[in-house]
Amino acid sequence: MSSEIEQEIAERRAGVLARIAKAAKSAGRSPDDVTLIAVSKVQPDERVDAMLAAGQRVFGENRVQEAQQRWSERKRSDDGIELRLIGPLQSNKSRDAVALFDMIETLDREKLARTLADAIQAEGRAPGIFVQVNTGEEEQKAGIAPLETDAFIEKVRTGYGIEPEGLMCIPPVGEPAGLHFALLAKIAARNGLRKLSMGMSADFESAIRFGATHVRVGTDLFGARA
Ligand SMILES: *Cc1c(COP(=O)(O)O)cnc(C)c1O
Repeated sequence: MSSEIEQEIAERRAGVLARIAKAAKSAGRSPDDVTLIAVSKVQPDERVDAMLAAGQRVFGENRVQEAQQRWSERKRSDDGIELRLIGPLQSNKSRDAVALFDMIETLDREKLARTLADAIQAEGRAPGIFVQVNTGEEEQKAGIAPLETDAFIEKVRTGYGIEPEGLMCIPPVGEPAGLHFALLAKIAARNGLRKLSMGMSADFESAIRFGATHVRVGTDLFGARA
């Protein structure tokens, strides 16, 4: 690992953490209540290792197979690493996902609740679960529709013994994200869920104002993806 890259990454991380702290303070919140998820998808290993060297321990990946290749060994040698799945999960990958990830943020349909519950049994390991909400009701986007979310959470709890910890959303491109963050916060509150994964490089400060407990930052932390 070149020291130049190590330094660049350490500076980028310090910059993002400072922005998180500033946004939290101006919202009257504690910076400790906002967790930075470093989104490492597609980034070269060298930059990921530099991020680890800089002290970052929470990472997000959006594909199971890519995450296995990158993280299986790294997690074995550092049990402080927390790995979060932030991309769509096919139900036939549930077992692999449950074995690897500490948190799965993208539960959005009943079939997946069933295969995850089975995988949790089989693996004897229970990652935390977030429900993904398609706040913009976009055709092509994963996530449960806002109006169906309350019933879905209830079904996941009672039908599958999964207690979701929070909600996650990806607002539509080109729309003010604040409305979507506010909607996600409202749905979480009325369902007694305390955690909110929302905000990316372009809008994490706004997400923090609306109550994000987890922000998912890739580009501003690592640089542009190839
Ligand atoms: C890639 C990705 C991010 C990070 O996006 P940036 O704009 O690079 O910060 C956040 N969330 C999800 C779900 C992603 O797929």
